[in-house]
Amino acid sequence: MAQRLVRILCPHCKKEVEASNLSGTDVSLPPDITIVAQPVGCPQCFYTGYRGRRAIYEVVPVTSEIAQLINEPEGTMDTLFKKYQIMLLKDAALNLLRKKETGLDEVFTYL
Ligand SMILES: [Zn+2]
Repeated sequence: MAQRLVRILCPHCKKEVEASNLSGTDVSLPPDITIVAQPVGCPQCFYTGYRGRRAIYEVVPVTSEIAQLINEPEGTMDTLFKKYQIMLLKDAALNLLRKKETGLDEVFTYL
């Protein structure tokens, strides 16, 4: 199990932008994410653009099938994660981005 805390955008000042318009966006987002919310800053959030955090987590059951691949290179288990519909940190972070609760800056590290 792994858990991280992701900063949540301030609901008072976040603004929505086209993901393709963001400079430095060299990661490929899922095609359904075209609009993302970005931090701005206001008195409510002490001009940080963020207000609060939310835990995201992943739980990977170590089945014999997965155990055999633990020492293999990163990415080897991806098809198994899909097969068993295991939600990884990346998926949880993208869900928060999709719901415009966090910004791209918070999600980059998981992509
Ligand atoms: Zn704010």
